[in-house]
Amino acid sequence: MTKQWFADIIMPLAVRGRFTYSIPDDILDSVKPGSRVMVQFGSSKLCSGIVSDIHNTLPAVKNVKSIISVLDAVPAINESQLKLWLWISDYYLCNEGEVMKAALPSEECLMSYKPKLETYVNLEREFTDDELNALLDKLAKAPRQQEVLSSYLRLSGYTFGTGLIPVSKSLLMAESKTTSSIIDVLTGKGVFVSESVPVSRITGAAEHRDPVKKLSLAQQDAYESVRNQFKEKDIVLLHGVTSSGKTEIYIHLIEEQLRLGKQVLYMLPEIALTTQIILRLKKHFGGVTGVYHSRFSDPEKVEIWKRVAENNHTGGYRLILGVRSSLFLPFSNLGLIIIDEEHDSSYKQQDPAPRYHARDSAIMLAAIHKAKTILGSASPSVESYNNAVNGKYGLALLNERYGLIKLPEIVIANTREAYRRKMMVSHFTPELLHAMDEALGKNEQIILFQNRRGFSPYIECSECGWIPVCFQCAVNLTYHKGIGKLVCHYCGYTTGMPSHCGNCNSSGMVTRGFGTEKIEDEIKIVFPEARVARMDQDTTRNKNSFDKIIRAFEDRQIDILIGTQMISKGLDFENLTVVGVLNADNLLNYPDFRAHERSFQLMEQVSGRAGRRQKQGKVIIQTADPVNRVIRLVLRHDYEGMFRMQAEERMTFNYPPFCRMVKIVIKHKERDLLNHYSDILGRDLKEMFGKRVLGPESPVISQVQLWYIKTILIKIERDKPQAKAKQLILDAIERVEREKGASSLRIAIDVDPY
Ligand code: ADP
Ligand code: ZN
Ligand code: ZN
Repeated sequence: MTKQWFADIIMPLAVRGRFTYSIPDDILDSVKPGSRVMVQFGSSKLCSGIVSDIHNTLPAVKNVKSIISVLDAVPAINESQLKLWLWISDYYLCNEGEVMKAALPSEECLMSYKPKLETYVNLEREFTDDELNALLDKLAKAPRQQEVLSSYLRLSGYTFGTGLIPVSKSLLMAESKTTSSIIDVLTGKGVFVSESVPVSRITGAAEHRDPVKKLSLAQQDAYESVRNQFKEKDIVLLHGVTSSGKTEIYIHLIEEQLRLGKQVLYMLPEIALTTQIILRLKKHFGGVTGVYHSRFSDPEKVEIWKRVAENNHTGGYRLILGVRSSLFLPFSNLGLIIIDEEHDSSYKQQDPAPRYHARDSAIMLAAIHKAKTILGSASPSVESYNNAVNGKYGLALLNERYGLIKLPEIVIANTREAYRRKMMVSHFTPELLHAMDEALGKNEQIILFQNRRGFSPYIECSECGWIPVCFQCAVNLTYHKGIGKLVCHYCGYTTGMPSHCGNCNSSGMVTRGFGTEKIEDEIKIVFPEARVARMDQDTTRNKNSFDKIIRAFEDRQIDILIGTQMISKGLDFENLTVVGVLNADNLLNYPDFRAHERSFQLMEQVSGRAGRRQKQGKVIIQTADPVNRVIRLVLRHDYEGMFRMQAEERMTFNYPPFCRMVKIVIKHKERDLLNHYSDILGRDLKEMFGKRVLGPESPVISQVQLWYIKTILIKIERDKPQAKAKQLILDAIERVEREKGASSLRIAIDVDPY
């Protein structure tokens, strides 16, 4: 008897465990790892899944079902993608199906995708000038054919030495006012060849290309340092101050990879940043450049997916600019991954699973492709810098701004003092107002940063102190004046603004604190002549709203732009000279072991937007605590100092990067049951991990959408085998899930939860 073969199938479901099906003989040849197959799931449901492995180990269950059919001729997922999926599921302790859901554009779309085709005409081979002239002379007797040929030469730029460039047949027909058959005659004569090429539904592939910019001496040094270190190391950290030209260095590295026929992935933490960088890239690399982010519709995503798969073919993408999820595109020969603003927390997915860190996963993806990774930042994460200091990563430095412009001058404005002396105007210190006045007088632009959206973070009864909170989350409701409502920023619950106190019925409800919306209001009063705009989650809900605001600011139609962390990173504006940080204390007082690192990074980033071209910029940081250590470090742009301070603290108190962390989040709708089960889990874990277990404890936000929350944190030594520890954690979770009555418990695991 011949052997029976089985396939393990990944299903797009958040269900633990592997699903094994037998492979009928007649389709054995077409079932491969990565193939999409149709199977029966449960008693009646049909489901499509992806084959992860083929083997002949009989599964332990009875009545193994057969695969019903194979859905595509070639596997939908290539081997490298599958490896990445499995790594993510292993490392981040989630199900393969959850990774699949995050990675694939919608199923139906993948299946129904049919590329639109367009015919392109090209010269059959390269001709010398003499040959071309002879050919044109010969065609003098057939003027229409002659016209077609000269139109082609004009459109393709061939006569300017640009080489063989296909021209769309319909364009050629229009330009030479001829018919398809005349072009076909020339094809018959061996002058032209034509081919059908998928055309993109996404427009905007201008083919004019600028040569890459010449690097400054300092940039050249850094560039060569990166290349040299790549000979020995797979990962290099490029630590370059803001506006030093890191992007230009990436561009040189990209050019080299494209010349070698390799693909490049360029990752950014924020969609807003793609607007400017994509133009910079397309200028040099033209139509091989694609963008990928979550704002695209499913059909658009599928289109990009296909074009990445087409890679080196005409119309394929070889350079992808993308956010987190671009990791999952079907790359086949990556040569380089660039992770810009590598320190940025947006690279970590919080919810739902897979709770992966895109930087760390990208490093794994690069390893799968034997590609190199460059991490870039003006204020690297403590963990990456530590890896560079230890020699695990290479380190390249770029200490001067392009054009030798000085880093912005930092002014600390003491809000406590200003309030005491009655010098505050709304939420603005005299220092900030003065700098703004000066800039506006010179027609220069200003950015104001406030890390809270909405009008005021909470409202309060002036009589009894009552504060409206969300009925299903343990958080204060934020007042949004534009819509006249209170909004929960955790669950989206919206309610009217109460006219009376819910406790004492007094009519003295007042707004407290301030968000971007309030700043916008106040600025309009203080500077009535200025043109003011706001960029935050509320003003950028539409697909193109980022682009619109950024373009308007570039075109100087806006004098003052107010925004959240969205405006703090990576943007490059010529005429922006003043940056105001309205409330640094918010950032510093956040209860998290990374709060100081993050505040430093944010302030350094947002400062970095000022004075990038002609002259030194100015940054006003408002704080009630001007002697704060972190603020003193920002004042001197002292990254090294920040790193040393943090490294020492984390070594002493055993925090990453000196240990690994796994966070378990336990939720239940009943508080008592939550406490009961989380105590069981905590005790179980403590038996295995002892003092490494912290909690269970209530997080700062202890209830969201009616679910009460507790967390348990486990710190694992760096030198202990992490796979074993993770398995023990999984086992403990499965044990508590099997406890009587535990079925309405929800448990999430977060590996490296920071
Ligand atoms: P970073 O990425 O380090 O913040 P950028 O690459 O955005 O810096 O450079 C800052 C500005 O200086 C950009 O407008 C960029 O075009 C310009 N610039 C940097 N290097 C060069 C160069 N070698 N030649 C011309 N312009 C440059
Ligand atoms: Zn009251
Ligand atoms: Zn809520």
